[in-house]
Amino acid sequence: MRTSYKTPGIVLRRYPLGEADTIVHLITPELGKVEAVAKGARRIKSRLLAVTQPFVYGEYLLFPGRSLDKMSQGAIITAYRRLREDLDYFAICSYCAELVDRLLPVAEPAPGVFALLKELFDYLHSAPKSELSLVNALALFRIILVQRIGYQIDFTRCLYCGRIADLEFFSIKQGGPLCKSCSGQDETALSVRPAVCQALAKLPSLGWPKLGILKLETYLPEIEKLLDDFYLYHLEIEPRSTEFLYSLRS
Ligand SMILES: [Zn+2]
Repeated sequence: MRTSYKTPGIVLRRYPLGEADTIVHLITPELGKVEAVAKGARRIKSRLLAVTQPFVYGEYLLFPGRSLDKMSQGAIITAYRRLREDLDYFAICSYCAELVDRLLPVAEPAPGVFALLKELFDYLHSAPKSELSLVNALALFRIILVQRIGYQIDFTRCLYCGRIADLEFFSIKQGGPLCKSCSGQDETALSVRPAVCQALAKLPSLGWPKLGILKLETYLPEIEKLLDDFYLYHLEIEPRSTEFLYSLRS
């Protein structure tokens, strides 16, 4: 039996348990996802109230339990307050945190996923909203997440024949581009303009600081449909926060 342990973590999700307790899902750099009960965390005077808010990055002291671990202490490293106070940020962060929460099993280390979520939060927190590209940030997060959960996608060549030009389809099932002649072999082939795969290849190479250089607007509906379909296919159900996210865009 493990003894108590201390870990940094980001709050992915929290929901009430009983009268005053909260169940918290954290993503940690070394331990993967941790699910814990924070006793009395909904009481106004609880020391755990602030550190169990969504998207808080904190340092937590936990005790292993039979089904859920128990959170006994926490200290805020970065509160990321803006991500809860602005509806656009809240929608994006809720969606991305939900993807991470649902894609990761408990206690399976995923340092790359932790780093990715923290990079997204840091980016959104780094500058006034007018200087950021929220749509590009969401697209970049979703592309890299796919790669970090194990899909080795090369957006530059056809999955079947390796062709690099005229990639007019994308395989939702296999997560990669297809040329027209190979598209018949894949029942999940989605028709896209070739520039869509080019943009998807380029975005990760720009990274967070230069994200806004790429103007995705023209291709955005296709990119979003492609990523939505991919996550729907592989997650099997649509994240609960999708509707909220899209209602803010319209
Ligand atoms: Zn091909």
